[in-house]
Amino acid sequence: MDTLFYDRLKTYLGSEFETFKELLKKEPIKTIFFNTNKASEEKIKTLIDFKIEKSALNNMVYYYEHDNIGKTMAYDLGLIYPQELSATMPAKVLSPKKGSLVIDMCAAPGGKSIDLLNILADTGTLISNEHDFKRAKVLLSNLERLGLSAMITSLSCDDLAKEFKDQADYVLLDAPCSGEGMIRKDPSILKNYSLNNINKLSKLQSELLDKALDLLKDGGYLVYSTCTYAIEENEMNVLEFLKRHEGVTLLDTTIDHCHRGLKYKDLESAKLLRFSPLDHTEGQFVALMKVKKDGDKKISYMKETRHKLVENFVYENLGLNKYYLYLYHDYYYLSLSPLPSISKGLLRPGIEVGTIKKGIFYPSHSLYRANSLRPYFKKVIDLSLDEYLKYRQGLSLFKDVSDGFYLLTYQDLSLGFSKASKGELKNKYPKGLRF
Ligand code: SAM
Repeated sequence: MDTLFYDRLKTYLGSEFETFKELLKKEPIKTIFFNTNKASEEKIKTLIDFKIEKSALNNMVYYYEHDNIGKTMAYDLGLIYPQELSATMPAKVLSPKKGSLVIDMCAAPGGKSIDLLNILADTGTLISNEHDFKRAKVLLSNLERLGLSAMITSLSCDDLAKEFKDQADYVLLDAPCSGEGMIRKDPSILKNYSLNNINKLSKLQSELLDKALDLLKDGGYLVYSTCTYAIEENEMNVLEFLKRHEGVTLLDTTIDHCHRGLKYKDLESAKLLRFSPLDHTEGQFVALMKVKKDGDKKISYMKETRHKLVENFVYENLGLNKYYLYLYHDYYYLSLSPLPSISKGLLRPGIEVGTIKKGIFYPSHSLYRANSLRPYFKKVIDLSLDEYLKYRQGLSLFKDVSDGFYLLTYQDLSLGFSKASKGELKNKYPKGLRF
């Protein structure tokens, strides 16, 4: 197995192969993405108490030294997301314009959706899809922790293409792949390594590429990415895709400091990006394409539901007038942009606001965590460090405040909420997040 992998890499890398082989013996490089949608880069730095160093490739990515990043305060506050440096490149290459409709076809656990939402900066709509339902729930919790709002779906790419045909301005297809680029992190990848598996994946990726094309409108952009080195899953798939569809053109990207695509037939390989330990990252392949089609489909939007109790709550607590409200499986959801209609596979249309039981409205944690709503909350209590640690443990706090719902923040960063009653702030931090 190892021999097959190394033999293939030798043909790709030529004189660089020996260096590459040595680099594979080293530890993977650890990086975090800064969620500047929640706080400025400078503010995030002040809440990090471990060693970090900015990367040259993406100015929102830092190298870090810590053995348990998930237990840090910056992680709990949703300020950082552990993401490999080259894995941030697909979204950077796609760079969707503000206000656009973007679809992330294979989104879990969520890294590239997080990158895309940081670029969209609370404008437009991201449809973040993951076909595996369990993984879609992980995606949901990651986006919620970072306070980012997307339309989250769990559909096969076939169904996704039917639901949103000809509607997207931008599509990211970060395809399932043989994962050779992650070998330093997970050497067990080589256990199932076979040409048969690579060819099977290549066929699946080629089918998914056709679905990506279905989703795009005329003039739309597509990024195809994998975290593998196999030519069958990368260059060969791109060339076959371009040959199958006359209206698709391969574009150059402006990213430097990495290798370009492998030479393959008449493919313009210099337009493709290839990252590996030779570029001081793990493995990633990125291709950017533009689509020309006849006509677009008019987008039909989801039907809104209004409810006086919810509207009153939003008005009294946020003072927000213009928003879209949807009722889905007994919960109300809010979005700052209208959402395209969908017939199945929806997990979350925007920000979960809350639910009504026996004529009483109960707000949700997500509402208080959403970065886009942070400036609107009227009742806010900024906690001391000691109070924040108690809140995280699920304890009640005591303060001389009037009754009602409060957004709780630490250093002005949203944590969650509390219901004040006679001076007691009842803890509403979700049980699964407490520690
Ligand atoms: N983009 C994600 C991120 O940045 O966190 C990583 C995506 S991972 C490379 C590929 C995803 O494709 C996995 O979540 C996997 O569940 C999904 N997948 C696997 N087989 C699939 C299929 N047949 N159709 C659609 N998605 C599939």
